[in-house]
Amino acid sequence: MSFLKTDISFLKGVGPTRAERLAKELNVKTVEDLLCIYPFRYIDKTKFQKISDLRSTDDVALIKGKIRSIEKVQSAKRQSRLTALLLDDTGAIELVWFQQIKVISEIIKTNTEYIVYGRVNSFGGRKSIVHPEMEESGAQIDMHKTFDPVYSSTEKLDAIGLDSKGRRRLIKAILEKLSPSEIEENLPQYIIEKFKFPTRFQALEWVHFPKDEAQKNLAQNRIKFEEFFFLQMQLLHSKAKRKTILRGIVFEKVGHTFNTFYKEKLPFELTNAQKRVMKEIRYDLGGGFQMNRLLQGDVGSGKTVVALMCMLLAIDNGYQSCLMAPTEILATQHYEGITNLVADLGIKVAFYTGSVKGKARKEILAGLEDGSIDIVIGTHALIEDTVVFQNLGLSITDEQHRFGVAQRARLWYKADKLPPHILVMTATPIPRTLAMTTYGDLDVSVIDELPPGRKEITTLHKFETHRPQVLEFMHKQIALGRQIYVVFPLIEESEKLDLQDLQQGYENLLQYFPPPNFQISVVHGRMKAQAKEFEMKRFVDKQSQIMVATTVIEVGVNVPNASVMIVENAERFGLSQLHQLRGRVGRGAEQSYCILMSGFKLSKESKERIATMVRTNNGFEIAEADLQLRGPGEIEGTRQSGVTNFRLLNLIKDHSIVSTARLMAEKVLESDPNLAHETNLPLRKYLMSIANPMSNDWGLIS
Ligand code: ADP
Ligand code: MG
Repeated sequence: MSFLKTDISFLKGVGPTRAERLAKELNVKTVEDLLCIYPFRYIDKTKFQKISDLRSTDDVALIKGKIRSIEKVQSAKRQSRLTALLLDDTGAIELVWFQQIKVISEIIKTNTEYIVYGRVNSFGGRKSIVHPEMEESGAQIDMHKTFDPVYSSTEKLDAIGLDSKGRRRLIKAILEKLSPSEIEENLPQYIIEKFKFPTRFQALEWVHFPKDEAQKNLAQNRIKFEEFFFLQMQLLHSKAKRKTILRGIVFEKVGHTFNTFYKEKLPFELTNAQKRVMKEIRYDLGGGFQMNRLLQGDVGSGKTVVALMCMLLAIDNGYQSCLMAPTEILATQHYEGITNLVADLGIKVAFYTGSVKGKARKEILAGLEDGSIDIVIGTHALIEDTVVFQNLGLSITDEQHRFGVAQRARLWYKADKLPPHILVMTATPIPRTLAMTTYGDLDVSVIDELPPGRKEITTLHKFETHRPQVLEFMHKQIALGRQIYVVFPLIEESEKLDLQDLQQGYENLLQYFPPPNFQISVVHGRMKAQAKEFEMKRFVDKQSQIMVATTVIEVGVNVPNASVMIVENAERFGLSQLHQLRGRVGRGAEQSYCILMSGFKLSKESKERIATMVRTNNGFEIAEADLQLRGPGEIEGTRQSGVTNFRLLNLIKDHSIVSTARLMAEKVLESDPNLAHETNLPLRKYLMSIANPMSNDWGLIS
């Protein structure tokens, strides 16, 4: 067995206890696992700071100085501590320990020069470093190595000597034992030359122990490139495979159903963007290969009608379709909207969710199996094995960010012959870099135009002190015949408290909008589906003027007469959530408003989020801002998929590496789709080694 695959407990200096900790805290099991945790920072030992230059909090400092005095402070009230005063020729700083006082007091000496590293605190003008990393400056093991790696650690690891210092020793031991031949090159020579990359072995060595900034950058760039490049190779390859070997159903006809709908039923003219997207989709559907397309369009851009027209095409060609929505309410709205639009067209549309039971359920299942149902609209209940189609030709998923990537794939297997065409619709615009990772294997269409006549929604930020004006504004809007949403946050951990908030908010509103003149609907996630439905319907039918709700209404709900969205505790919502919520209004001809209510105390990030909402209505701009604020790992839908868990690469900061790697992957596969050329052998070998053994990836494309 290779050294890299060796159990970490056998590495000298580790042993069973530390091995267990490493597994628990860092998921490290083998030597390779540990080697592939890269430093997140380095200490540049050529650059000492002067103590007088240190500017308090959060500055990480590297200083060189002598210890003047050491003092043990024992106090009955407070935790005892050890302090040492460190001096250089510009000033003094206090070093403080709360733990291992005895051990440390025995080690450190006065009048000896130390190199000290740590985070600087400042209390009342006095600078200090708590639990610094330090070593005698004369006793440096490696004076020629001027960059010390710093690894992210945990208290538990620090406690057993696996802090950065301890980890450095282990990594050094690994690198010493490792022979270059064990790190097989995984990039072709022409790529290495093109980008002047170090070898793979060299990069590993340098990323841990660079001699200088230049080596560090070379190593990091190569590793970052690898991270994105190989992911893209996999995604692009599966896309290419789909387009070349996976035969798809051909929808060749544009027939009676589609034409009748288009000419006689469609209540408006399609926007140019909708027309363009229809063209793109029709090209896919007729091409003989399986469609796998992501349809992005901001809230209200009119994705539903595009979906419907695709389903009508399926019918004209003798196939069934399904439309899957993330919630019951949304599925219901789709069902009602679509049955209205296709009335008298002679097609059979069914509704199927978990709450459809008994005889109705049996009938639908039978209808899907014998092919008498043309379109089924529902929730993820459609994925269950009990649902069998006679000839599913098209599967559409709405608001994809609520579904996992794995769920998306499951619908493929619903067809026993050729896989159905897949259309994924999302109203959460995804920044380009993210789309490349999460949906890198999909083709993308964008509806970048709203239907005509929409008025820009006016967004305002108001504090609690403005409450009277807000209430007055609500009264005026209701007098004009409009309806209003009032949304409260609901976050799982504090569900109870939040429901109290909502209840309280509802009761307050009742005082200002008393029955019988006013009616208020309430909808939240804890309600039974039926009760929810009932309350929703009262609002849709204009029986109630105000809807108090949690974010269950976030996605998809369509009540054109509702023109005011009030978001309570807006600081607790994410940007994309706020944008979705705002998308619930501005659907009719009236001027619409979104009022973001918040407390006075706002974090910098909350302020930025709210300011972004007030500034722009553009979903793509908001998505970019969201990505900047939160980082890619937090964007909904990508977290579960795990594709953004890069070790070194940062999708935002390293965007130039991202696009270079993507381009390179495209180029390589374009000229050698099977990686059959001898020059690409390292690539092929490596990709096969990391491929899922079940997926038969990197089988030949013929
Ligand atoms: P979303 O993309 O958010 O799912 P919908 O499909 O719900 O948007 O469409 C929003 C509203 O716009 C619906 O009431 C729909 O009937 C209407 N709509 C869609 N396309 C057009 C169009 N081309 N012209 C006018 N109204 C349209
Ligand atoms: Mg929609």
